[in-house]
Amino acid sequence: MDALREMMKDKKRIVIKIGSSSLQHAQTGDLDYIKLELLVRELCDIRNQGKDVVLVSSGAIAAGRKAVHLKNTEEKTESTIAVKQACAAVGQARLMMTYQKLFGEYNQVTAQILMTKNTIVDNLNRYNAHNTFSELFNLGVIPIVNENDTVATYEIEIGDNDTLSAIVAALVDADLLILLSDIDGLYTDDPRTNPDAAFIETVPCLTEELMHMGKKSTGSSVGTGGMNTKLQAAVIATKSDTDMVIANSRDLRVIHKILEGESIGTLFLKNPDEGFDLPEFVEGLNR
Ligand code: GLU
Repeated sequence: MDALREMMKDKKRIVIKIGSSSLQHAQTGDLDYIKLELLVRELCDIRNQGKDVVLVSSGAIAAGRKAVHLKNTEEKTESTIAVKQACAAVGQARLMMTYQKLFGEYNQVTAQILMTKNTIVDNLNRYNAHNTFSELFNLGVIPIVNENDTVATYEIEIGDNDTLSAIVAALVDADLLILLSDIDGLYTDDPRTNPDAAFIETVPCLTEELMHMGKKSTGSSVGTGGMNTKLQAAVIATKSDTDMVIANSRDLRVIHKILEGESIGTLFLKNPDEGFDLPEFVEGLNR
């Protein structure tokens, strides 16, 4: 086994991010309960190994849109922000209800944490959020995090959950961030359009050249993350002393396999940067 991957076995605090497109059926937009159940079982098992787990889950807006019978196109009207926020308000509650039911089957307690930019930029908010996470870990609870889309407008929005999950990883001093997506990891080019694109197993250091490989979109119609946001997440995580893996959510058993040291996805090695200022970085997002 690769020595770098062997180190994954020692990770004690893990943040796992799953995107909307990984949680629903592409054809109908309805929740994929088989995947959700598998996700929950994997996370409960990691917790049972004595590790701290945080789940960053998207899907609130998609669930809300479904609940009030909106089609994708209707979201793109003038009322986009208000519609999105209304859908988030409906969907976040539904999403948590589903998670609590599934986690409850394994007697696992969960908590909801909704964040905005201000949670990090404001010193008191950040301090309080950090303490809340610590206490939840002490209590053996799995925090489920999302952006507070219902109130987050341009000035205070983080914008996508790839970035949010890296911010959470930095805030809680996580050892590992796993981004689960509809792609296998990082390629030298877009594998859907370039058959010569080569898969990158390990990124020891984020070079300018690598950053340019980020593409605008994954091709998914839900969620907001593309390779760009994943690379931005890698910057935040690796500078904050956290390793990061991008892996495909097709089979969610990859979660325990990654933690057992299997070579799955792309591993971005931590590269702690003393000069990296998380609140300053977050304040500058979307500007
Ligand atoms: N926060 C959004 C939601 O829960 C998703 C953002 C994203 O997919 O990056 O629907």
